[in-house]
Amino acid sequence: MLTIENYIGGEMVLPASGLYLDNIEPATGEVYSQIPDSDDRDVNLAADAARAAFPKWSKTSPEARFEILIRLVSFIERDLDELARAESIDNGKPLTLARAMDIPRAASNFRFYATAAMHTSNESHETVGQAINYTLRQPLGVVGCISPWNLPLYLFTWKIAPAIAAGCTVVAKPSEITPMTAYMLSKLCIEAGLPAGVLNIVHGLGPKVGAAIVGHRDIKAISFTGGTKTGEEIARTAAPMFKKMSLELGGKNPNIIFADCNYDEMLETTVRSSFANQGQICLCGSRIFVERPIYERFKNDLVSRAMELNIGDPLEDSTNIGAVVSRSHMEKIQSYIDLARTEGGKILCGGHRVSLDGRCSGGFFMEPTVIEGLPHDCRTNQEEIFGPVVSIMPFDTEEEVLGFANSVRYGLSATVWTENLSRAHRVSALLDSGIVWVNCWLLRDLRTPFGGVKDSGIGREGGFEALKFFTEEKNVCVKI
Ligand code: NDP
Repeated sequence: MLTIENYIGGEMVLPASGLYLDNIEPATGEVYSQIPDSDDRDVNLAADAARAAFPKWSKTSPEARFEILIRLVSFIERDLDELARAESIDNGKPLTLARAMDIPRAASNFRFYATAAMHTSNESHETVGQAINYTLRQPLGVVGCISPWNLPLYLFTWKIAPAIAAGCTVVAKPSEITPMTAYMLSKLCIEAGLPAGVLNIVHGLGPKVGAAIVGHRDIKAISFTGGTKTGEEIARTAAPMFKKMSLELGGKNPNIIFADCNYDEMLETTVRSSFANQGQICLCGSRIFVERPIYERFKNDLVSRAMELNIGDPLEDSTNIGAVVSRSHMEKIQSYIDLARTEGGKILCGGHRVSLDGRCSGGFFMEPTVIEGLPHDCRTNQEEIFGPVVSIMPFDTEEEVLGFANSVRYGLSATVWTENLSRAHRVSALLDSGIVWVNCWLLRDLRTPFGGVKDSGIGREGGFEALKFFTEEKNVCVKI
């Protein structure tokens, strides 16, 4: 059985404790590898290595950083099939999705920031007749990057790439539930010649490794993606230490469908925005508001499309819906479906665990589930479920649906379907949301600011925002 190792100071190392955790394949329910059960000793080593690497790395030119990072991109692309297969096994997601989205995006993250670092510029301000001020943007030092299990390598690299490109050195922790591709990345970093200590990856539990990163005195900033509750805990520790924080947290995203939409395109995309990655994408639209004239038609079509989705072995090309990430997550999703029933919801399709034959008989599979009949303010419609579960609700007016959409504590993303241009702009501006997709979903441009409002987090990732996050601005005032 494969034993994953930490990556510290440029080497693959065993955890100080000598202890390991089981890594379970969600599609089979079986243990298939071992993960270091690291603790603060490993984090201290990693932070020491990162601190030692910082002076040289921060002085390395963006062009030289580019050369190394772009080599890493070529290795990720070379190993695309292997990485995609590992991601699928580790997470339960369909291999086709990992191959088409997760791994290519990891390569894009490095490519984007390798090049972006060569295109930064700093402002200067002339104090007329007296002085010239210029802004120096200097890398922060050692930073911490902590990522979740739903898009493992995709989100891990989304943090690491700008940090390294900006000249910081990193102590990073992938989710303990999906550590495999981060482990494989460590080896690619060695092969690509990333200098020792620039990136350090410590595997293990959030409350041990994650908390040790957040509480470490030498770690100047925390870039975190995960649940809102964990974000709160991180902020409690990091804020009094005056660390910079970027927190990308949970969501309960509205998908607002007006009767004048391009129906076929909307339906096609809504099936994806509801159930892609088993609904475990922070951007999935879990609350679907449908203008009353097309409500019945939409309901019937969505249900029949959901029932056509093929639930199966994630490694098979024909699979649309793979396994959810863990037994406990499956139980959480199931508990929300039970809650929906007690709140008066009608389960139009799905609602149950699926038992497959053969290799996947012990796996964690859930039916795509569509619920109707719930008020917008019940718990099912207010709390994040993060599974293949959507709730559909009719609405009559723009004002009403904006009230429904904005009634939750979250504000990550929203989708609006309408052919009415004025309404598209008007509604987009009034939604409490960091991202609004009009007539599309998950159409990403890495230059755009990415992040949430309200309890979906603070800060923005993407584009130059992320490079700025990992740097500190200094004003230099030179008297003329
Ligand atoms: P968690 O918050 O449970 O975990 C995220 C990461 O934090 C993991 O690596 C976890 O480690 C670690 N962690 C846990 N506790 C602590 C702690 N006390 N201190 C420091 N680190 C800790 O989230 P999930 O992994 O369950 O991911 C799902 C959540 O992520 C959903 O709420 C989803 O909406 C959100 N998300 C948000 C996105 C966004 O861009 N806004 C994008 C994707 C997901 P371990 O795995 O060992 O517990």
